[in-house]
Amino acid sequence: MKSMAGIPILALMAAAAISSAAQTPHEAQPPHRWAIVLHGGAGVIERASMDPKTEAAYRASLKEAIEAGAKVLDGGGSSLDAIEASIHILEDDPLFNAGRGAVFTADGRNELDAAIMDGATLKAGAVAGVTRTRHPISLARAVMEKSQWVMLSGDGADAFAAHVGLEQVDPSFFFTERRWQSLVRELKKEGLPIPPRPAGAPPAPEAWNDSLPEPPDAHKYGTVGVVALDRQGNIAAGTSTGGLTAKRWGRIGDSPIIGAGTYASNQSCAVSATGTGEYFIRLGVAREICNLVYFRHMRVQQAADEVIHKELDAIHGDGGVIAITPDGQMAWSFNTSGMFRARIAEGGKLEIGVYNDEP
Ligand code: ASP
Repeated sequence: MKSMAGIPILALMAAAAISSAAQTPHEAQPPHRWAIVLHGGAGVIERASMDPKTEAAYRASLKEAIEAGAKVLDGGGSSLDAIEASIHILEDDPLFNAGRGAVFTADGRNELDAAIMDGATLKAGAVAGVTRTRHPISLARAVMEKSQWVMLSGDGADAFAAHVGLEQVDPSFFFTERRWQSLVRELKKEGLPIPPRPAGAPPAPEAWNDSLPEPPDAHKYGTVGVVALDRQGNIAAGTSTGGLTAKRWGRIGDSPIIGAGTYASNQSCAVSATGTGEYFIRLGVAREICNLVYFRHMRVQQAADEVIHKELDAIHGDGGVIAITPDGQMAWSFNTSGMFRARIAEGGKLEIGVYNDEP
């Protein structure tokens, strides 16, 4: 029989059997109740201008996505797995500005950013400007777990995705007519040239009539993000986005920047942000909230409100955050008229919100 470090295997097996026999089923149950909070972007989202069918579709998508993450957590899965499960659904859902349904750059491309962070280890992974990887959140996770780096960008990031076996798609996979029409509107407003429709996109419709019409600026933003607490007591955060409509020159927002749009530490909290990325980068919003929790011992709701309603307001940035702590506090805070959001904790009730006059 082989041995490890001189200890016979049989002795190791006996020790393992004794330690598991010593745990009663009650003791084996970790003490933490799971919890999960999700956002689907913030912006000018007003009841008066929202079509009821569109609103119902958003609420149904938020429900489906949070339930996928909750199921993972309820089965004892990790916060990272829950985040990935929820974000996959949102990345595949054309209603959200992430994965399929992402907004277009001024030259008519979808350039996707994402980040994930593990609060237990402070490990993080991020990608910027990817164009061929179906699930950028999984690529961010692969960067965290399978490379020695934290952030990869552009073609190199897509090549790494292919290298680790993540699904690659033709860039036209991400095309949606709704986002294309938003780009055309935005470029006309800015007086910029309209690029040709991307290769592989369906032919231009004769007249564009959105079956789920949105308020015109609802998706100026529209990033998706999830923060979660698992039964082991570990928190994590993930964010995925197409960035801002008509972005140019390789612009990258806050979402993939650790500490700005995404942050997690078991010492304080996990945060995912959405809004005008430039302001979130300047304030280091996600880390700033966690610092208030850690150094000033604030409740996470108070910390999030402090940063969004005071610091972000003061520099005229707009958007919002979701946050969670290892002791199960959940928060959201935003200074826009709406933020698509949902949350649930083990044994609690599912809450879904869109406008700022909902709880
Ligand atoms: N924060 C993202 C960015 O600036 C956009 C968004 O949240 O919708 O890229």
